Amino acid sequence: MFADLERKAGAFPRATYHARSGRSDVTVWCSNDYLGMGQHPAVLEAMHSALDRCGAGAGGTRNISGTNHYHVLLEQELAELHRKEAALIFTSGYVSNWATLSTLASRLPDCVVFSDAGNHASMIEGIRHSGAERVVFQHNNPDDLHRRLSCVDPRRPKLVAFESVYSMDGDIAPIAELCDVADAHGAMTYLDEVHAVGLYGAHGGGISEREGLSHRLTVIEGTLAKGFGVIGGYISASAALCDFVRSYASGFIFTTALPPAVAAGAIASIRHLKASGVERERHRDRVTRMRALLDQAGIPHMRNDSHIVPVMVCDPILCKQISDELLTIHGVYVQPINYPTVPRGTERLRVTPSPLHSDEDIAHFVESLSEVWSRIGLRRAA
Ligand code: PLP
Repeated sequence: MFADLERKAGAFPRATYHARSGRSDVTVWCSNDYLGMGQHPAVLEAMHSALDRCGAGAGGTRNISGTNHYHVLLEQELAELHRKEAALIFTSGYVSNWATLSTLASRLPDCVVFSDAGNHASMIEGIRHSGAERVVFQHNNPDDLHRRLSCVDPRRPKLVAFESVYSMDGDIAPIAELCDVADAHGAMTYLDEVHAVGLYGAHGGGISEREGLSHRLTVIEGTLAKGFGVIGGYISASAALCDFVRSYASGFIFTTALPPAVAAGAIASIRHLKASGVERERHRDRVTRMRALLDQAGIPHMRNDSHIVPVMVCDPILCKQISDELLTIHGVYVQPINYPTVPRGTERLRVTPSPLHSDEDIAHFVESLSEVWSRIGLRRAA
């Protein structure tokens, strides 16, 4: 399959640039199409065929003529992936977080939301919009969550919202411990698996699948845009909870449904990754290789247990300069990540190796980065 994709990639127009390296193409190192599923033949074929059958758009909201057979199949596929009774799709992961959290927190009388300090903007905005009381607990800290839950009237409805893989540091939540604390206080749990679905678990069900914890989460939220390579977002939960959100969430009700071809592509991607572990295995191998080469070159990168490799520059101007030079001189594209996306002083290049990066690509990346690193005079890791 990788040979097929590499051949196909050869058909794309190549960017030209002023290179010292002699390479005439640009390699992308910061894509969130983590597994290359956006180029997978099964996904493209499913999308072409649905496009021919159904046309370009859904033609309406889910409730008024916009629901297509593919939407229904996609929701079934997602419910099965996370071993839940039901699922509900939205036009993006952002919208699924925003709509679901704002609906649950505003409609459950007197609800308090406990939100991890590292949560994504879409969760924060959803909670803010609900008008419910929000308590922020220390990032990935079950003890702090326990302390804060203990201060709230036990009779109030409570929702604990957190992510599995955090996108900038690549660290992974202690899901079991957070669920233990939530259970002890009778709180519901909401897990954003956006950076994990497709990538982790025997069938791509995320960290919750890998750790056998899916049943402990009240809601598992995900995206179709990253590991699955398409676009769209979803929640999976009990049938009653999905019906509740379907009935009350303005972000579900008052917007046009995803195009059927997008739903068809997502189904193909999910089905492929449920059955095949090849992409996940190769992905892990690429990440390990990248880290090993960075270590050999003494390029400092943040340690974590995920696929996200943050190369720490810790200076916003140099971070941008390195990114510019990598692109213009070496044909390497990696976006600088500066404040406010990350705290000041932790500016970085967020590198995401994929199954489609070859050994040669990885070597070229590290050699190029090493050359720029030396020229700028940055310190090497011990
Ligand atoms: N949740 C997290 C943790 C994210 O990082 C993102 C986006 O990058 C989203 C949700 C939104 O997902 P989408 O890109 O599908 O809107």
